[in-house]
Amino acid sequence: MNIETSKSLFQEAEQHIVGGVNSPSRAYKGVGGGTPIYMKKGEGSRFIDVDDNKYIDYLGAYGPIITGHAHPHITDAIKKAAESGVLYGTPTSLENVFAKKLKNAIPSLDKVRFVNSGTEAVMTTIRVARAYTGRNKIIKFAGCYHGHSDLVLVAAGSGPATLGTPDSAGIPAAIAEDVITVPFNDISSFQKALEQYGDEIAGVLVEPIVGNFGIVEPKEGFLQQVNDFAHEAGALVIYDEVITAFRFTYGSAQQLLGVEPDMTAMGKIIGGGLPIGAYGGRADIMEQVAPLGPAYQAGTMSGNPASMAAGIACLEVLEQPGTYEHLDRLGALLEDGIKNSASSYGIDVQVNRLGGALTLFFTDKEVENYKDAENTDGEKFASFFKSMLSKGVNLAPSKYEAWFLTTAHREEDIHKTLEAVDQTFAEMTGK
Ligand code: PMP
Repeated sequence: MNIETSKSLFQEAEQHIVGGVNSPSRAYKGVGGGTPIYMKKGEGSRFIDVDDNKYIDYLGAYGPIITGHAHPHITDAIKKAAESGVLYGTPTSLENVFAKKLKNAIPSLDKVRFVNSGTEAVMTTIRVARAYTGRNKIIKFAGCYHGHSDLVLVAAGSGPATLGTPDSAGIPAAIAEDVITVPFNDISSFQKALEQYGDEIAGVLVEPIVGNFGIVEPKEGFLQQVNDFAHEAGALVIYDEVITAFRFTYGSAQQLLGVEPDMTAMGKIIGGGLPIGAYGGRADIMEQVAPLGPAYQAGTMSGNPASMAAGIACLEVLEQPGTYEHLDRLGALLEDGIKNSASSYGIDVQVNRLGGALTLFFTDKEVENYKDAENTDGEKFASFFKSMLSKGVNLAPSKYEAWFLTTAHREEDIHKTLEAVDQTFAEMTGK
C-alpha cells in the first residue's frame, strides 16, 4: 500500500506540531508508533486517505461518529448554522431545544450545562460535587479515562484501594493524593476505600460501561452497590457517559442498566462530530453552578450554535426506529465472525461486545477489569492492527480501545472486514 503522501505530511507536521499530532494516540502510540494515515474524505462507513487508499472505518473518531461520516442531515444542520454566524456570545434558542432533548432522553438530568469537551464536562462535575459536599477527595476506577484534567490523570498504585500518584508530569502530588483508585467490578475494594476515606469523599466517578480499557460491562449489581455505599457515605455518584451516552440505546447506559447517578458527564456523540461536552444532574446539585451558585464554570464557545445544531441533528437521526437494532445486529455478525475465524486458526481471543461497540482482546481469559486488559497480548494486537490497516480496515490504534459501528455500516462492510480478519489471522499464524 502506498502511503507516501501520509509519510511526507507527518514529517512536515513533526516540524510544526508537537509530536506531529494534536492528540497523542493519533501517533499510533498504542501500537508501537508508525506513520499515521492522513484521511482526506469520509463518507458513511468509509474513508479515503491522501494517497487514495480506501478504508472501512471502525475508529468512529474515538466514538462521536455514530451516524457515519458526513451524514447529510447533520451536514445540512451545520451548514445552516454556519450561514447564520457561528458564534454570538448570547444565548440562542437551539440551546433550549437541545437541553430539552437531552433531558427527555435521560431522566436523571434535571438541569444541564453545555461545555466543549468531555474533559471539561468531567472536570466540572468534580468541582460541583466538591462544592455540594464540602469535601475534597474522589474515588475513581483503575483504567477508566476521564479526560486530561489534573485530578483524573492519576494512576493506581499496587494495592486494592490506593492513593493516586500523578500519571503525567506537571500534576502536583498533592492533587493526586485527593484521588483514590480502586479496581472496576471489585465491590469489596470499593467498600474498603469508603471505610478508610468515606467522610472525605466528595464523589465517585465511574464509566458505567467501561470504554477505555476495552468495552467492559459492570457485573450484575455492581453499580447499584456503588451507588448505595457511596450515598451511605455522603458522597455523590458521577457517571462519565462521554462514550456511553447514546451509544447503546437512545439515552444513556444508566437507563440500560437501571441505575441512576447524581450527575452525568457527556460528550462525543452528543456533538454529532463537532466539539461538545455537557454535564447535568439533580437540580439541587446543579444549582451550585454559577450564576446560581458558588461553583464557577464558564466558556466562550459553550453552547455555540454549530455544535448545538449538529448535536440536535445527530439525536434526530438516532431516534429513528431500528437504529440500535441495526448496530446490535452488525455488531453480533462481526463478533461471531471474528471468533469463528480466530478459533479456526487456534488464536485465543475474547470479544467484549455490547451493541455496536466491541473490543478484541488477544487472551484466553475474560476481561473484567483493567488488570485483565493489561495482561492481554499487545504485540499481537499491534500486528493485527497494522495488517488490518494495510487491508483497508481502520481500527483504533490501541488494544484498549473499542471498534465502533455506525448506522452507515452495512453487511457488506462486515463481510469485507471479516475477510481481512481471516487473512490477517492466516498471516499471524503462518497458515
Ligand atoms: N471521558 C471518557 C469516558 C472518555 O472516553 C473521554 C475521551 N476519550 C473523555 C472523558 C474526554 O473527552 P474529550 O476527549 O472530549 O475531552
